[in-house]
Amino acid sequence: MTAVGKVLIVGAGTTGSALAILLARAGVAVQIVEIKSGITALGSGITLQGNALRVLRDLGVWDEVRAAGFAFDSLGLRAPDGTLLAEIPDARTGGPDLPATVGMNRPELAAILAKAVQEAGARIEYGVTVDTLTDTGDGVRVIFSDGGSDTFDLVVGADGIRSAVREMIGIRLDPKPTGMGIWRVHTRRPESIERTDLIYGGPCYIAGYCPTGPDTMYAYLVEKARPRESIAEADKPALMRALAEGYGGPWSEIAGGITDPDRINYTWFESLLVDRPWNRGRVVLIGDAAHACPPTLAQGAAQCLEDAAVLAELLLAADRLDQAVFDAFMDRRYDRVRTVVEASLQLAEWRLNQVEDADLPGLMGRITALVSQRP
Ligand SMILES: Cc1cc2nc3c(=O)[nH]c(=O)nc-3n(C[C@H](O)[C@H](O)[C@H](O)COP(=O)(O)OP(=O)(O)OC[C@H]3O[C@@H](n4cnc5c(N)ncnc54)[C@H](O)[C@@H]3O)c2cc1C
Repeated sequence: MTAVGKVLIVGAGTTGSALAILLARAGVAVQIVEIKSGITALGSGITLQGNALRVLRDLGVWDEVRAAGFAFDSLGLRAPDGTLLAEIPDARTGGPDLPATVGMNRPELAAILAKAVQEAGARIEYGVTVDTLTDTGDGVRVIFSDGGSDTFDLVVGADGIRSAVREMIGIRLDPKPTGMGIWRVHTRRPESIERTDLIYGGPCYIAGYCPTGPDTMYAYLVEKARPRESIAEADKPALMRALAEGYGGPWSEIAGGITDPDRINYTWFESLLVDRPWNRGRVVLIGDAAHACPPTLAQGAAQCLEDAAVLAELLLAADRLDQAVFDAFMDRRYDRVRTVVEASLQLAEWRLNQVEDADLPGLMGRITALVSQRP
């Protein structure tokens, strides 16, 4: 007998999908509602660190992730003119049998997870959300946007940084802008690019890239945030190219590929951390709905996946759902997540204020040691 027999997950992103796979595979009746009309993930890339890969392996999708992505084990640091300053072996935070990092196209990761959700037996409804949630003490009565209703043992808000579930359970917290904006282009990979290289300097705070497959990569430029509504779709390539032209070496080739507005995304760096506990009664928040950080350490999705893994483990091990389960969840997640969020923000602040003598290796070393341990 597990703590839950019937669970509703709101949101079919990385977090919701991971939790659905683990619970449904263990025999829990899982329903997901996803507000979008189908599997969609922004057509950009994602950098998955070893601790994210460890969870993906536990989900049973590692072989597919490895085949679709691009694995590498070092990080390069370059000067704005392209000169290679250092090549640093990257820690294998997921263990010695997993690479340090895998770059992936986000839609491919989303498709792999969606297939695993289906195979695990979870039910997913697209184009549907939750209108009301009523916790009755021994269950949660849910009315859906399509007029349907049902009762669940547990409702999980995995509905992202602007979570409606968070609002519904009375947690009023808006994401905070960090003052930085990021341009990302998803483009063709020059053969010479086989790992992430970062440049801290030049016209942007950070310039970087990550291979995502045999022929693909994404490249990014982080600058002072500009009003998002001021950017016309058609102007995106020229705006990003103008920034990219301040960089040499591999960037000369990358700049030439910044032409298609559909392959360029501009967004702000934001952060958010819900104080513990992340539940109100039988409704709990996980993933970006509970915490989000600027991707300066590329730990966002990794922390989301860890939430799903730990929550599933606790729900499956307990024989009743009470506050002790949620407290145990917080004991294993809150301090770790807070440390990652704060370190990601610290790194962003150092770049924003152009602090040249910041102890970047020290900060990265501390986070690496932390996330190398199983959560
Ligand atoms: C610019 C940028 C770069 C990043 N780069 C990295 C990186 O390289 N590596 C890394 O590990 N992390 C990175 N991250 C962080 C990572 O993308 C997120 O932490 C992760 O995707 C969050 O997953 P999630 O499933 O919790 O939320 P989301 O991905 O936001 O998914 C939430 C899902 O819920 C759905 N939804 C929303 N509202 C509702 C509703 N009311 N009802 C039903 N469904 C709803 C949404 O449509 C969506 O499908 C980056 C983030 C940003 C902003």
